[in-house]
Amino acid sequence: MEQSLKGSRILVTGAGSGIGRAAAELLAKEGAVVAMLGRTEDELADVFDSIRRGGGDHLLISADISVEDDMRRAAGMIGERWGCLSGVVANAGINGVWAPLAEIGMEEWNKTLAINLGGTFLTDRETLPLLRKAGGGSVVVVASINGTRIFSNSGATAYACSKAAQVAFSRMLALECAKDRIRFNTVCPGAIETNIDDSTERRDLDGLRLPAEFPCGDVPLTGGTPGAADQVARTIGFLLSGASDHISGTEIYVDGAQSLLQG
Ligand code: NAD
Repeated sequence: MEQSLKGSRILVTGAGSGIGRAAAELLAKEGAVVAMLGRTEDELADVFDSIRRGGGDHLLISADISVEDDMRRAAGMIGERWGCLSGVVANAGINGVWAPLAEIGMEEWNKTLAINLGGTFLTDRETLPLLRKAGGGSVVVVASINGTRIFSNSGATAYACSKAAQVAFSRMLALECAKDRIRFNTVCPGAIETNIDDSTERRDLDGLRLPAEFPCGDVPLTGGTPGAADQVARTIGFLLSGASDHISGTEIYVDGAQSLLQG
């Protein structure tokens, strides 16, 4: 596997904002061509234009990661244009409804699971033949500290369950696909400044949280300041590159030690 990302062909889902956008920009800067996938062309127009200015056979794909036909079409577009893929970043996701358990509707629960977990499943299932065609590759799943190390964010139950399952998914596939030289790893970000609040509906959380207080801020490394999307993107870049070629089936926390403090 090449140490650098030059010439790599990489799909990034949720590339229109936040961590996905920062990853797409970093990968393109490092010489990869990037398939930027998001729900609408409008959402992707800005990042696509800025990356295209640097040259390269980049792709814009509007698709909903939770819709099977959309993801089949997305993989078909990539196959037609590039023939194969060297890497996948399964990043798109939502926070969904955060509320006491009794107030979470079945549809709300299903939506969070369908996008975060079902979307990861469809993204990776549909792109696997393209990674195999390349003779191997690297898949990075973006999960969270919620559901993996943090369980005190009461109300975020559906979200935390979807993120915990993404870790199990990634470990399962790390073994199943090892013979194909395809690596699967998970990045678990802590609080990161992005647009994720736009996909969050908080209801009746007052009194639900446990009364734990962190007087100096809850991100120990920064004294409370959240991380930046670019800090997560650099970890994604490392896991896609040959510099991590013996790393598979593991999680990397990008959270300034937040999850160790919060629990
Ligand atoms: P964001 O809202 O800025 O970006 C998410 C992107 O995914 C958006 O562009 C959105 O349109 C897209 N998306 C959502 N649902 C989609 C769907 N069904 N089909 C296609 N695209 C869809 O948020 P972000 O913080 O950059 O989130 C990226 C990932 O990072 C998510 O999986 C999130 O759970 C995870 N994460 C974020 C944080 C944080 O603090 N920001 C912390 C831990 C984990």
